[in-house]
Amino acid sequence: MGELRIGNLAAAPGETIKGYLETVELVDGTFAPIPVHLINGAEDGLTLFLGAGTHGDEINGVKAVLDAVAAIDVARLKGRIIAVPVQNPIAYRARFRLITLNQLDRRNMHRCFPGSPEGDISGRICNAIFDTIIGAADVDFVVDCHTGSTGSYYPPLVFVSTQGPKDAVERSLAGARVFDADLMVKAGGKAGVYALGNMLHMVAVERGIPAFGCELGTALPSEEVQYGTGARGLRNLMIHLGMIDGELTSTRNCVELDEIFEVRSERGGICNYLVKPGEAVEKGHPIARIMNLFGDVVDEVRSPLKGHIVTCTCWGTINQGERLVRIGRPAA
Ligand SMILES: [Zn+2]
Repeated sequence: MGELRIGNLAAAPGETIKGYLETVELVDGTFAPIPVHLINGAEDGLTLFLGAGTHGDEINGVKAVLDAVAAIDVARLKGRIIAVPVQNPIAYRARFRLITLNQLDRRNMHRCFPGSPEGDISGRICNAIFDTIIGAADVDFVVDCHTGSTGSYYPPLVFVSTQGPKDAVERSLAGARVFDADLMVKAGGKAGVYALGNMLHMVAVERGIPAFGCELGTALPSEEVQYGTGARGLRNLMIHLGMIDGELTSTRNCVELDEIFEVRSERGGICNYLVKPGEAVEKGHPIARIMNLFGDVVDEVRSPLKGHIVTCTCWGTINQGERLVRIGRPAA
């Protein structure tokens, strides 16, 4: 397949090269650096892009990608892997979800793909990822690793856009199914939270490149049970794509969801959950008890539908109006 080149980095067949791709120039004259691993297999095969850290505080995703690529033997790899464990280096430095360099374009980079070379900061970094890396390398499959945002905890979950060319959607679903997550969200028009537009997994599929994303726990504290699942899921995908040899490992029964509902708290106080992320609930199943600071239970919240708990908060407390859980309805 020849040399794999991204910016100033180049890997010959059978070679792994790691380095930084410079993006936007900052106030001090340095350039926000995207870390890039180029793993150019000795044998021909597909080209896989593994990204994480679009939100700067989602460390389980970063570690899942690093662990997955650390296990690769480039001499036996069929195809090419391009890994970008931190796609948003500015937010990563700040240990924060979003870019906070100014008040005007404090945007969510997860909603800014494919970006533009004439855009704002987020748009330019997205453009570097989508055009300079994914487009230039003619990537065949994209995975974007996330976690819940701070205060929101997810079981291992994959999300797939169902809006795009049928073949790309089918191949995305097939890849996501081997990841071995607890839940899969098929993000069409109804599963709105993963179909908000301009997300990497959506834009890739719209352009015919199979893709999915994953959620692994929550932001900041890294947890081996979560990033370990992520690394194993990425390895399973490489086996599925014919890039490495091995047996698919499966420990979970992945439930597919096609609609997501939010339940918000009508009371403020201490939040004691009666369910766990990933758990199945019947309509009317108790979800949480809210307790005031005098020790009185002031509310018991029940599930409005039969489904699976997609995410719980992990603050320990809740304000009136805050999201208590997301509940997914299993696909028909
Ligand atoms: Zn994220």
